[in-house]
Amino acid sequence: MIGSATLDGQRFADRLHRAIAAGGPIPVSAYMGQANAHYYAARDPLGTAGDFTTAPEISQMFGELVGLWLADLWQRAGRPDVHFVELGPGRGTLAADALRAMAGAGLRPPVQLVETSPALRAAQRLRLPDAHWHHDLSTLPDDAALLVVANEVFDALPIRQLVRAPDGWRERLVVSEGERFRPVPGPRAAGVPLHLADAPEGSVLETSPASAAVAAELGRRLATQSGAALIVDYGHARTAIGDTLQAVSRHAFADPWLRPGEVDLTAHVNFEALALAATCVHSPRPESFVPTNGIERESPTTAWPVVEQGALLKALGIDARAAALARAQPGRAEEIELARHRLTAPDQMGSLFKALALTAPGWPAPAGFA
Ligand code: SAH
Repeated sequence: MIGSATLDGQRFADRLHRAIAAGGPIPVSAYMGQANAHYYAARDPLGTAGDFTTAPEISQMFGELVGLWLADLWQRAGRPDVHFVELGPGRGTLAADALRAMAGAGLRPPVQLVETSPALRAAQRLRLPDAHWHHDLSTLPDDAALLVVANEVFDALPIRQLVRAPDGWRERLVVSEGERFRPVPGPRAAGVPLHLADAPEGSVLETSPASAAVAAELGRRLATQSGAALIVDYGHARTAIGDTLQAVSRHAFADPWLRPGEVDLTAHVNFEALALAATCVHSPRPESFVPTNGIERESPTTAWPVVEQGALLKALGIDARAAALARAQPGRAEEIELARHRLTAPDQMGSLFKALALTAPGWPAPAGFA
């Protein structure tokens, strides 16, 4: 299995080298998008035997607290008809834990999973046999409110990289160089925020049009259908300069310019950009447009100030939940405490990982955000 995946990855890298030789350098976003599509299509990369581990795979507490967060909002919003939606559900662990917790609160919504990977869809089907699958958000039902969760999904969506050259900002392109790929400055890039125009030479600025498009569609859906979304990932609360493209393989950092398609490529999520995209929504009710900064726009979906994962899980009661689990299973007490620490400690996942909550107009303040 491992051997065949590697051979297959080599064939993908060879094809990419030939495509660049024939057609010229490609943007970093094309490199990352093609590499990750290949990477995820054929494998389940999660867990100790895979390449990386995520919060729901560390402990059931993560999915349970997310489920309770959603159920609490739903109750305070007046118990409307809803669909549960998860973007990039991995093995379906978060959804299974969240749905169990939600059922305890009387919420049993239909399950809609947005997943492109056939291998991971198969894994999800084992845990969530009654779910409905979608390739993207466009086919999600529009007959009820949406309760949306996305954990460690946006970090895998393609980023563009712009690099500050002596004569201004340029788009980074990827060239083929022997076994390796290499980023080089390409054509001049427009659209760099004014305050960054004179950043020092060599500075890298990342943007993710793919992530912004998903956030905008989420914002539009929440504004028109109602509901809420919780986006959890590692990244920056505000736009920041820096090259954050990274590769992970077998739980260790790897070279992002070697073996594309065989390693997991991710980048810091820009939560400020996601919040902006989700709230810059043009609703179908033009009479309600409010001029903001001279721009005709409306923000019917609310983006709550980003909070750190550790603070959110503590506000949602992870300490009490861990204590209850340890009391019920004394033999697992140490493992449960380790998981709680890993999810919340500032030097573990507690600070680097952050959460963004989006709510529809008229919905109450979400727990842990207000
Ligand atoms: N949320 C899960 C899995 C995280 S791994 C967890 O926390 O464990 C990233 C997930 O996003 C995988 O399910 C992967 O197949 C999915 N994904 C990656 N790129 C995607 C894309 N372009 N469109 C939709 N899903 C994608």
